[in-house]
Amino acid sequence: MSDTRGQRDDTMPIDTAELHRFLTELLGAGGVIDDPAEFGRYTTDWAGDKGSDPWMVARPGTPEQVADIVAFCHRHRIPMVAQGGHSGLVGGAQPDAERRELLISLERLNRIRHIDPINFSMSVDSGCILQTVKDAAEAADCYFPLALGAQGSCQIGGNVSTNAGGLNVLRYGMMRQLVLGLEVVLPDGRLWNGMHALHKDNRGYDLKQLFIGAEGTLGIVTGAVLKLAPRPQTSRTALIAVPDIASALALYGQARRSCCDLLSAFELIPRVCMELAFEAAPDLPDPLDEAYPVYVLLEVSASGPVDLDAMIEHLFETGAEQEHVLDGVLASSEAQAAQLWQIRESMLEGQQMRGEHLRTDVSLPISGLTAFFEAASHAVAQRSPDTQIIAYGHIGDGNLHFNLLPPPALDLEAKKALLHELETLLFDLVDAHHGSISAEHGIGRVKQAPFLEDLGELEYSLLSGLKRLFDPHGLMAAGRILPR
Ligand SMILES: Cc1cc2nc3c(=O)[nH]c(=O)nc-3n(C[C@H](O)[C@H](O)[C@H](O)COP(=O)(O)OP(=O)(O)OC[C@H]3O[C@@H](n4cnc5c(N)ncnc54)[C@H](O)[C@@H]3O)c2cc1C
Repeated sequence: MSDTRGQRDDTMPIDTAELHRFLTELLGAGGVIDDPAEFGRYTTDWAGDKGSDPWMVARPGTPEQVADIVAFCHRHRIPMVAQGGHSGLVGGAQPDAERRELLISLERLNRIRHIDPINFSMSVDSGCILQTVKDAAEAADCYFPLALGAQGSCQIGGNVSTNAGGLNVLRYGMMRQLVLGLEVVLPDGRLWNGMHALHKDNRGYDLKQLFIGAEGTLGIVTGAVLKLAPRPQTSRTALIAVPDIASALALYGQARRSCCDLLSAFELIPRVCMELAFEAAPDLPDPLDEAYPVYVLLEVSASGPVDLDAMIEHLFETGAEQEHVLDGVLASSEAQAAQLWQIRESMLEGQQMRGEHLRTDVSLPISGLTAFFEAASHAVAQRSPDTQIIAYGHIGDGNLHFNLLPPPALDLEAKKALLHELETLLFDLVDAHHGSISAEHGIGRVKQAPFLEDLGELEYSLLSGLKRLFDPHGLMAAGRILPR
C-alpha cells in the first residue's frame, strides 16, 4: 500500500456548510451538487424508480481527489457511497434513506490512461464508460470483450464492483477474468496502487480480487488495468429455433465442441420474449416464417482465417439430424445480425413496458438448467396459473433470468405481494438445485435478505470480518451486501 492520507484523528461531526466548503475548495463549484432539485439523475434508476436523496454529490476528477474526499469522510465519520453509471440492478448505488450519505460520483474520472497493444492491456480511470473503452481498444486493433445492454452508460468502476458478466462470458469470462490490476481508495482515504499489467503474478494473496464484486463496500475503485483480446475480424450471428430448453442445452454442448473456442455468445430466447421485443420495437421483423417455442441466439467470431459459415452450417445440420434444431437463420449481413441482437435488447424494454414484474438473475450448473426450469415453471403455475413466465438468459453460462409478470387484473399491492411470495419459492428451488440467487447483478440491498438467509455462520463471520478489517467504522456503502 502506498500514500497515507486521512491520518489526523479529528472525528468531530460537521454540518452541511462545512462539508460544502471542503468539497468546493477541493473540486471547484462544478464538482459539488447540493441542490436537491439537481439530485434526480443520481437517484432515479434505470427502471425509473426514485431513490432517496444523498446529503450531497461530490464529483472528483482525479484519484487523489477521491482519496482526499474519503479521508475527510473518514475523519468526520460521514457515510459515503460510490456511483458509476447507475445501471446496477440491485439498488447498491442509490443513497440510503436512513443515513445522509455523501454520493461520490466517478463520472468526471474518465481518462483512458494507456493502451499497450503488445501486452494486450489498457489502463483506464474507473469512470470511463464501457462503450468508450471498447471503442478505444478497437482503435488500437484490440478488443475489450465485456458486452452488456447498459454499455453506453455503465462505467468500468461499476463493472469491476459488480463483477459484471454479459453476453461474452462463456468465451472471455466475467470482470474477474478481465482485470489485471486495480487502483483503489480504501475507506480511510489511503490510495492503493495495484495497477499491474501482468498476465501472470503469483505473489501471494490476490488483493485486487477482493474489490471485484465488492459493490463498493471495501473501497472506491479509481483505476483499472484491463485485459484485452485480439480484435475479431469476422463474426457470424445465427438465430436457431429449437423445440424446448433441453434441446437448447443439447445444442449448446454441440456448439461448444464443434465451434471450439470461437463460440462467444449463446442466449436463450423463448417465443414469449420475442413477442415482448416486437411490442417494444414494432418495426422489428419476425426473423423466421413460423413461430417456434424457443430460440437460441448465438455468435461465433474469429480473428484469423476461419470459415465461420461452414462451422454454423455444420451445427445446423448435425442439430437437425439429432432433432435439436427446427429451423434457423444465419445473418447474411451486419445489419441483419444487428437486427437479431436488437431482439435481445428490445425484449428487455418490452418487459419493462408491462409494468410491475419480478426480475431474477439466477445461475445453475448448466446441466441442471432443464430440471430447474421445469420445477420452477411447475411451481409458479401451481401457485398462480395466470402469472406469465419470461425466462431468458446467458444459458451458455448457466445464467437464467427467470422473470415473472403477474396477472394484469391484480392491483399493485397484490402484484407486489404475489411476486414476493413467488420469489421466495423460486429462490428455494435455486437452493435445492445447487444454484446461486445472483449470477451477475450482485447483492446490493435488493437481494440482501435472501443472501443472508442462505449464508452459513462461518461464511458470515469471514465476510463481516473482512468488512471490519477494511472499514471498521462501516462508512462505505454500508448496508449493501451485509447489514449495517
Ligand atoms: C439494460 C441493462 C442490461 C444489463 N445487462 C447486464 C448483463 O448482461 N450482465 C451484467 O453483469 N450486468 C448487467 N446489468 C447490470 C450491471 O451491473 C451494470 O450495468 C453495470 O455493471 C454497473 O455499472 P455502473 O457503472 O452502472 O454501476 P452503478 O450502478 O453506478 O453501481 C453499481 C455498484 O457498484 C458500486 N460502484 C460503482 N462504481 C464504483 C467504483 N468506482 N468503485 C467502487 N464501487 C463502485 C456502486 O456503489 C454500486 O454498488 C445490466 C443493466 C442494465 C440497466
